[in-house]
This record gives sequence, structure tokens and C-alpha cells, in this order.
Amino acid sequence: MTFEALTIFPEFFRGPFEHGVVARAHAAGVLEIRIHDLRNWTPDRHRTVDDRPFGGGEGMLLKPAPVFEAVESIWPQRQPGQRVVLLSAQGRMFDQAMARRWAALDGLLLICGRYEGVDERVAEHLADEEVSIGDYVLSGGELAAAVVIDAVARLLPGVLGNEASAVNESFSEMEAGRLDCPQYTRPAEFRGWTVPEVLLSGHHEEIRRWRAGAALEKTRRLRPDLISAGQEVGKHHE
Ligand code: SAM
Repeated sequence: MTFEALTIFPEFFRGPFEHGVVARAHAAGVLEIRIHDLRNWTPDRHRTVDDRPFGGGEGMLLKPAPVFEAVESIWPQRQPGQRVVLLSAQGRMFDQAMARRWAALDGLLLICGRYEGVDERVAEHLADEEVSIGDYVLSGGELAAAVVIDAVARLLPGVLGNEASAVNESFSEMEAGRLDCPQYTRPAEFRGWTVPEVLLSGHHEEIRRWRAGAALEKTRRLRPDLISAGQEVGKHHE
């Protein structure tokens, strides 16, 4: 799969993909990440990408022309397996289900906004989707794009060492409506806090039951919204 990021700060992406799972996947040729400098599609000497909003208001907006021309030159003929996504605080919320869907694509092109945002015609006529990574405002789309690339990349076949690790984790299809369970490692006692006895028992069925209960308890305590959402989904399937 190929990830393309369109940005005015290409340097921004130096760090995030040089380590861990995504770096290994890149080295193994499972994925390709291409970073494009939006200023390459500006005709003027100052490489201007922004302008003032019509109707007045704070700050500047990314102009439509460089963004359209960049996307049209990166993908001159968009194929069905290629998706253009505008990162935006106003977008639909990115989640694990979306990451799973996108992991089946051939290409994802992520447009990173800056300043006060991007001329709306990009959302209306260029992007397939407008997506937010959470209900807060970032100063640019680069961090959001890095989050999306990381979440999608680790779901690509062959990226995680153990294929099962993406199956039983929080938000996975198997764990719908439930977070991952609490996990402990050695030592069994740390500063007087002991790990639950059952985990040391070697009794697989009891461990499985304890984990299911602990995962549910933690979900109820920290993310009760997931449980009600899961019940709603269940209702619709009845
Ligand atoms: N004026 C915009 C608003 O109130 O919705 C905020 C613009 S923000 C300062 C600049 C850029 O950061 C946006 O164009 C977008 O690309 C990115 N951005 C900010 N928050 C984001 C979020 N929650 N998810 C994804 N991208 C975000």
C-alpha cells in the first residue's frame, strides 16, 4: 500500500516513521510512504500557498489551486482503490473500523491543512472524505496524517509480527464494544502491588475468563460509551 502526504512541512515526517513497526514494514517493502511539498505546485516566486478568507475573519487559508494540482499530478487518474482524505477538525471521526477499511486500499493520499484551514472546495470537489482524529484543534494536519498512517499501516498483512495481535486488541472486530484487558509483566510484586493471582496460575480457561471480565470492567469504568454503542449495534443485528 502507498501512503502519500501533501504538506507545507515535509520535514515534519522525518521522525515518526523512522522507528518501530512502520519503519520495519517500509524496509520490508510492505508499504511506501511518499511526502509531497505543496509548494512545488505554486507558480509564483514566493511559492504562495495561502490567502485571506472571503468575507473577512482571522488568519489565512490554503488556496485551492496548489492542492488540486498536486493531487491531480500525484494521481492523474484516480483508481477505485485510491482515496483522497482531507484531515480536518470538522471531519468525520477516524476510528479503528475506518483504519480497517483503508488497510484494504492500494493508496491513501492525505491532505494536511494549515493556518485556519483549507478552501472548502477541496472538501467539496477533491477529497473523498474529510476526517478528524479527535474533538480538538491541532495547528496542522501533519500529526493527524501521521496518526492515520500508523493506525492503517499496522493492519496491513505482514506488518505486525504476530498476526493475532491486531485481532484481540482494543477496538478490534473480535473485541467490539470492549477494550483490551489489563496486562502485567514481571516482577509479580512491584512496590507492594501484586499482579492478579489467576495470571500466575497457568490455568488457561480461568485466565481467559478473568481477562474477559477485567476488560469489561475497565471498559465500563473508562469508556462506558463503547458498551452502549456495542449494544446498539447488537440490537440492529437482532
Ligand atoms: N479553523 C479550523 C476549525 O476550526 O475547524 C481549524 C484549522 S486547524 C488550526 C489547521 C489544520 O489542522 C486543519 O486544516 C486540519 O488539516 C488540521 N487539523 C486540526 N485539527 C484536526 C483534527 N482534530 N483532526 C485532523 N486534522 C486536524
